[in-house]
Amino acid sequence: MEPAVKETSQKEIKEVLNRHKEYFNKQCTKPIDFRIEQLKKLKQSIKNSEQDIFDALKKDLNKSEFESYLTEVGILYSEIDFTLKSVRKWAKPKKVKTALTHFGSKGYIIPEPFGTALIIAPWNYPVQLALSPLVGAIAAGNTAVIKPSELTPNVSKVIIHLVSTAFSSEYISVVEGGAETSQSLLKQEMDYIFFTGSVNVGKVVMEAASKRLIPVTLELGGKSPCIVHKDANIKLAAKRIVFGKFTNAGQTCIAPDYLFVHKEIKDELISSMKQVITEFYGHTPIAHDSYGKIVNSSHFKRLQGYLNNGRIIIGGDFDESSLKIAPTIMDDVDWKSPVMQEEIFGPIFPVLEYSDITDVIMSVNKRPKPLALYLFTQSGQVERSITGSISFGGGSINDTLMHIATPYLPFGGVGESGTGSYHGMSSFQTFSHYKSILKQTNAFDFTFKYPSAKHGLKIMRK
Ligand code: NAD
Repeated sequence: MEPAVKETSQKEIKEVLNRHKEYFNKQCTKPIDFRIEQLKKLKQSIKNSEQDIFDALKKDLNKSEFESYLTEVGILYSEIDFTLKSVRKWAKPKKVKTALTHFGSKGYIIPEPFGTALIIAPWNYPVQLALSPLVGAIAAGNTAVIKPSELTPNVSKVIIHLVSTAFSSEYISVVEGGAETSQSLLKQEMDYIFFTGSVNVGKVVMEAASKRLIPVTLELGGKSPCIVHKDANIKLAAKRIVFGKFTNAGQTCIAPDYLFVHKEIKDELISSMKQVITEFYGHTPIAHDSYGKIVNSSHFKRLQGYLNNGRIIIGGDFDESSLKIAPTIMDDVDWKSPVMQEEIFGPIFPVLEYSDITDVIMSVNKRPKPLALYLFTQSGQVERSITGSISFGGGSINDTLMHIATPYLPFGGVGESGTGSYHGMSSFQTFSHYKSILKQTNAFDFTFKYPSAKHGLKIMRK
């Protein structure tokens, strides 16, 4: 039996927030030693719950332990370790230069926490996407409320456990529920909102935040193109694309959504991808133990609806009882096909072909800015032409997904795929307000700025 997630009442939510505000105002979350200690506690608590996390991910999404470590827990450990190494440096006030007009004074910038941050998470990487923003929130000195997804109820219970054993409830809390709870949270006086989820709900979040002028980060989705040029290393490309597309059964915000392949290499690439699918998931992927399931039956039905949008050249089989859809590659689709109208978020891969790279640029640029873009080519000129002419959140050249897994690269979308970024230092910056201070000297006083100054204007115009 699934442990159903219940909505949390407005009254409870208000109480939670009041506790956080009171706690924050005690100033105890700000000392850097406190933050470091909490990050260590978070890491230890994840470690203590590791097996429970793996079990919950298996139940909610049929993730294998290997995949759960690679894409959820392992990423959290490296994010925490990276932050622990650098947070002292990031949190220090920074001196800046003094303008000539301000001679004698000093300028510096203090990063300060916003207060209480609300983190709303989706279901597809339900551990990582709830806790990775928390690393930034803690590092920057905030208190935080996490709202996990109601669609991964087993994971939600583990998150409650690992957070409540590591932290006091006035410091970090978990509020369970679905859209109703999420909307109640959005009506509160939060100091920051960090949302990961769909474009449509992102708009709801931004609208709610605008009523109170609460700053937001929106990590959204969209259709991320995967472009394979004629000079690509086809065998490697096939492996890396199959990995990126079918990990977590395609339910990855930055999964390649559709393939844009040069027509001269289309057949060879598709036949290589077919071999790789068999190598990874066997001849019957829906029966393979490590192949992910679709999160629930409504998403399963939505994806099933796409299967007749084109000609299936690989896969196409499914099993409703286990909510599995085989890795599927689909030809004969165009931009008007329903599968090309919205983010697929599942293991269906439509193929478009091109003969001129400028057509690719024009087609992608006509549509909302993607969260990710992948390009397989050995030509620096093609690389520069794509990265220079298409706006997208971030991406990889000759690989997929991997740009998300390094703390040195800020991760986020642009336009419809999101606003703001995080990971590594960028997480710290996201959850910090940078307060500018000018410290004036008392040793002397420039009188030209005062209304009584006779020659003030003349001096200033010089
Ligand atoms: P979703 O937008 O349906 O839900 C996300 C969160 O918002 C959940 O916690 C949910 O309870 C809450 N929510 C749902 N409806 C709401 C409403 N009307 N008002 C307020 N809150 C509401 O997204 P999802 O289905 O959980 O996740 C899939 C989407 O998330 C995809 O579009 C994917 O691309 C995107 N995503 C983006 C990233 C990223 O880092 N950019 C990562 C993962 C997923």
